[in-house]
Amino acid sequence: NHQILLASRPQGEPTTDNFRLVETPVPELEAGQVLVRHHYLSLDPYMRGRMNDGKSYAQPQPLDAVMIGGTVGEVVASRNGNFNVGDHVVGMGGWQEYAVVDATQRGVLQKVDTRHVPLSAYLGAVGMPGVTGWYGLVKIIDPKEGETVVVSAASGAVGSVVGQLAKARGCRVVGLAGGPDKCAYVTDELGFDACIDYRQFPDLKSLSGALKVACPKGIDGYFENVGGVILDAVMLRANAFSRVAMCGMIAGYNGEPMPMANPALILVNRMKIEGFIVSEHMNVWPEALKELGAGVATGQIKFRESVAQGIASAPEAFLGLLKGKNFGKQLVKLV
Ligand code: NDP
Repeated sequence: NHQILLASRPQGEPTTDNFRLVETPVPELEAGQVLVRHHYLSLDPYMRGRMNDGKSYAQPQPLDAVMIGGTVGEVVASRNGNFNVGDHVVGMGGWQEYAVVDATQRGVLQKVDTRHVPLSAYLGAVGMPGVTGWYGLVKIIDPKEGETVVVSAASGAVGSVVGQLAKARGCRVVGLAGGPDKCAYVTDELGFDACIDYRQFPDLKSLSGALKVACPKGIDGYFENVGGVILDAVMLRANAFSRVAMCGMIAGYNGEPMPMANPALILVNRMKIEGFIVSEHMNVWPEALKELGAGVATGQIKFRESVAQGIASAPEAFLGLLKGKNFGKQLVKLV
């Protein structure tokens, strides 16, 4: 069983030296346990935070332990009556080819139906990132028909879902993404009304100018994935009583300072700004997954994946995700 361990904690930007590839034998199953062969590993921005030792909303990832992370795969051996060989499952198996899972605790391992939804989508649009987009949009932004919703990292796993759900609710939807290819995908494939390549507008003045053109009626809802100058520019265009779902601030995950240029705008615009962690809202997951699963099964919700091949490629692919080299949900394919 090939595994990737966290070898050391990064200072600033992580490197491949922070990870170590090892091989260990798969242990014999005990009663209640299931052996899962992983087909895909999920790589997610939150993993950067767990590589640090400092205080955060997530527990730090232990050193010399398998990198924690979401996985989908197939049961290949079972000593648990609820799981049969051949079942497709989603879990938190980590960066390794096989995981021994104590499946006696409810929710540790979930069976999934791959007849209408591909297995990998349970790590993306019909999984944690999809529910994240759903929660921030539906429960925090709560958009009304005709309102303008803006989302950053718009081509990504979370952002792509946010925009499509907002379009389905009758909003004008504007994305921000890095580069012309991502922007073309966001408008032409995902159906957003406009997408701004923020790299073309590197300072606050030019970016807020671009937002003014794309959002002629101002901004009512903003789904924040990035932080920094993008947030400042959105705030300059925010309408009275606008809502911001604070989902992620990836531009600061390596410790970059992120001052807010003009916090007085929160007062002036009577804005609601609310942070959230999707795993603390398990009560909404069934409702969210129902809409997301139906959307993917019928083709109404589209998604895209960046797939790295083989366990050894995981660290490099993860470093790429933090720099926007991914185009859609970043996965590692093992089988
Ligand atoms: P994505 O698929 O969106 O990939 C990350 C993207 O972030 C990159 O593709 C890149 O897109 C963008 N990015 C990276 N660095 C920068 C930068 N310095 N400035 C601007 N953009 C950057 O990842 P996810 O969809 O999985 O996650 C999106 C966000 O949601 C993250 O911030 C993540 O931490 C957060 N999140 C929060 C959760 C919660 O519970 N609160 C749960 C899940 C995710 P581009 O090239 O377009 O810039």
